[in-house]
Amino acid sequence: MMHGVKVHITGVVQGVGFRPFVYNLATNLNLKGWVKNTSAGVEIEAEGDKNTLDVFLQKLRDDAPPLSRIDDFTASFRPRNGFTQFDIIHSESVDGAFQPISPDIAICDDCLRELFDPGDRRYLYPFINCTNCGPRFTIIKDIPYDRPFTTMAGFPLCPDCEREYRDPTNRRFHAQPVACPACGPKVWLETKDERGKKDGSNVIVEVQRLFTEAQIVAIKGLGGFHLACDATNEKAVRELRSRKLRVEKPFALMMPDIETIEKHCYVSKDEKELLTSSARPIVLLKKKPESTIVEEVSPRQDWLGVMLPYTPLHHLLFSDFIPPLVLTSGNLSEEPIATGNEEARERLANLADAFLMHDRDIHIRCDDSVVRVFQNNQKSSITNSKSSYPIRRSRGYSPFPVKLPFQVPHLLATGSELKNTFCLTNEKYAFLSHHIGDMENYETLKSFEQGVEHFERLFRVKPVAIAHDMHPNYLATRYALERAEREGLPTVAVQHHHAHVAACMAEHGLTEPVIGVSFDGTGYGEDGAIWGGEFIVADARSYQRLAQLEYFPLPGGDASIKKPARAALALLWSLGLEWDDALAPVKEFCTEDQVTLRVQLEKKINTPMTSSMGRLFDAVSALAGVRQKVNYEGQAAIEFEAMADPAEAGQYVFGVEAGQVRVRGAVEALVRDVMAGIPTPKISARFHNGLAEAVRDAVQKIGQETSLRNVVLSGGVWQNITLLQKTLSLLRKDGFEIYIHRDVPANDGGLSLGQAFVAASRLRG
Ligand code: ZN
Ligand code: ZN
Ligand code: FE
Repeated sequence: MMHGVKVHITGVVQGVGFRPFVYNLATNLNLKGWVKNTSAGVEIEAEGDKNTLDVFLQKLRDDAPPLSRIDDFTASFRPRNGFTQFDIIHSESVDGAFQPISPDIAICDDCLRELFDPGDRRYLYPFINCTNCGPRFTIIKDIPYDRPFTTMAGFPLCPDCEREYRDPTNRRFHAQPVACPACGPKVWLETKDERGKKDGSNVIVEVQRLFTEAQIVAIKGLGGFHLACDATNEKAVRELRSRKLRVEKPFALMMPDIETIEKHCYVSKDEKELLTSSARPIVLLKKKPESTIVEEVSPRQDWLGVMLPYTPLHHLLFSDFIPPLVLTSGNLSEEPIATGNEEARERLANLADAFLMHDRDIHIRCDDSVVRVFQNNQKSSITNSKSSYPIRRSRGYSPFPVKLPFQVPHLLATGSELKNTFCLTNEKYAFLSHHIGDMENYETLKSFEQGVEHFERLFRVKPVAIAHDMHPNYLATRYALERAEREGLPTVAVQHHHAHVAACMAEHGLTEPVIGVSFDGTGYGEDGAIWGGEFIVADARSYQRLAQLEYFPLPGGDASIKKPARAALALLWSLGLEWDDALAPVKEFCTEDQVTLRVQLEKKINTPMTSSMGRLFDAVSALAGVRQKVNYEGQAAIEFEAMADPAEAGQYVFGVEAGQVRVRGAVEALVRDVMAGIPTPKISARFHNGLAEAVRDAVQKIGQETSLRNVVLSGGVWQNITLLQKTLSLLRKDGFEIYIHRDVPANDGGLSLGQAFVAASRLRG
């Protein structure tokens, strides 16, 4: 007796070899019918005997391609239609329907083998790819994911590629970016002296030669241009820093293989797994003392950000001996990464000595992702690792959605000022964008607007409300307010630290109240102060602030952020502690400036109050003599943490009373140690130990008051692994259930997810 079955599958099922998988499975089982992509997912109709159909349904789920992710699977039996064969039929778009899109995927092992096989017709071809690998997100203009809707539309397939593309048993069946030397994109080199193109295979050799001459080469990648140079050449790295106007902020590295990485860094099993995963993120690794990577790459840091090659072009560059490369985003300082050829020629003219170009367009820019390992974290649905802790979630992960615990309306959340991402929701999905960057200039705002527009089209979202930060002057807030006004939409203002906690709740599907410990650098407080050391009780709708780091003044606001020495003196002043001339931050000010600063503090001139944990770290880093000025956000705290002696058990005692974490005792003890010449690693450790203990105290008190047992740790300060580890083990000992980030960053890069989650919950009523 023959039966028919109709199957509907949603999730990441396009561009990942799903249809050929279905085709091969069905034909092997001798089933008849068809499979097709729709803009809502994949649809299948199959006919055969009941037992075989059951096997088919089981295998569809069990053996699905490695890069796919099935979210919903429905099957209904029905009378048969009498099909005579199994076909892959033409895609049709369904109005308003949407589905998740695969992120870009690093070159697979099969393609890599062919790339270096002299007998293969794609031997040394820089754009080799197949259904299991290659560009996706960055080349897609619209759904369904078919070649005409990608930037490959302008490259008609040659007969050989066409044959592979049409053959369901071929690895390149319906691989949309499929190409070969005869029909696909090409690379060429442009140098300063010869503006003309240099084509052909000698291009790679030429670029390698430039590296040996300490030259800087702009290389067009998957999501934008990189600037590259020899990471073991001090002159080259210095030159890159000065041209990029980037002081001290670490550069990312690309190394040819794991063996090379192990020469320069310690690599654990978990780190290796992340490095070699199909997303190929930058992984933060502990540097070995014998590494020949020049200090200038990552000044005063004991770690390096390293990634493996992820495009065929990268592999070609490393094909003969070549040193580890600095591979940093192709931009000036904090502007967005350059993507177009013409744009790169203009914007990177003064940064690069040569350009390794190609003619496959990048439709949406996407920076490299950054993760670090945090042992025994919960498994991430996005990185697929049990120990990843995201720092920047972009290429290889975006636009993979976060699945929410309930159905939500169409929303846009515009995110933060720094490390901006935005977030759109549709049904149960939260589509968190790629990294947009610091929204401080026109270029970045433009990139933000283009990104929002692109995501709205791609995921068929027409926002019915817009969520934003409470800070009135963030460009992202202004965009939200202006657009809401223009389109007559309601807005939802979400307090910064509530959004941080909500972001972590969203990834864990938490809807009941939690104790949230939200520590970061800067967030707009409801009383006009700068918050950042907050203990809240929150659900996804609202929050209550139950404790905070005690306020201290921040003379000059931004001036104190750039100069921790100022924050240090302000802290001492507010605690009634002396400005001793022997202290490093006091030495930063001449007598006259000290008088001015004192007057400013006493008269409260341009001196906001802050409970920022980030600023407290800055201040103590200055007091400990580690750093008086910073060149990038968080630098003082990062360097202070790096010094902490893991063997030190002593601690500075904070007090927690009346909803305030008091700092006087701890700061006084720290200053005493500094004056007594106690080594900085001990001082750093004692501060971290004491602070973790203070968090435990505050959480315990709130736990007693509220009988809540779930604790969420969010905000950029929790990138401090030393503090995170110590706090976690204390709270766990007390029997609290701790939730930390695993899918999105703890920093402002995850904020828009929290805003969207809060807005969705409020709109639900
Ligand atoms: Zn492949
Ligand atoms: Zn071809
Ligand atoms: Fe923040």
